[in-house]
Amino acid sequence: MKEKRSLYQCLEAKVKKDRIRCAKRHPLSKMSGDGTIPVLRLARGEPLELGVCQDCNAYDEMGGPVAPEDRGWVHPPGFKTTKRGPGRPKKMKVI
Ligand code: SF4
Repeated sequence: MKEKRSLYQCLEAKVKKDRIRCAKRHPLSKMSGDGTIPVLRLARGEPLELGVCQDCNAYDEMGGPVAPEDRGWVHPPGFKTTKRGPGRPKKMKVI
C-alpha cells in the first residue's frame, strides 16, 4: 500500500501566524476562504494527510514520515511520548 503524503513532509507547507498555507498556493482546505488550515491541527499532531497533496506535482519532500508520537505538542492527558519528546522529528539535528 502506498504511504500517504503529509504536510509534515513537504517543504512547501508553511506556517504563518496561526495558519498553515501552501507556498504553491494550492488550497489546503475548501472550507476556509483563503485555502489555509489552522495551526492548531499541527499542534494536536493530526496526520495532515490532505487530499490535495496526494497527487500534487509540486510536492517537495524534505524527509520521511514523522511518527505519530513525535507529532504535535498539545496532547490529551495520558499521551505517551518518546525519549526525544513530542514534536521533534527523528531526523532533526540537535546543535
Ligand atoms: S504537496 Fe502540494 S499542495 Fe501539499 S503542501 Fe506540498 S506543494 Fe502544497
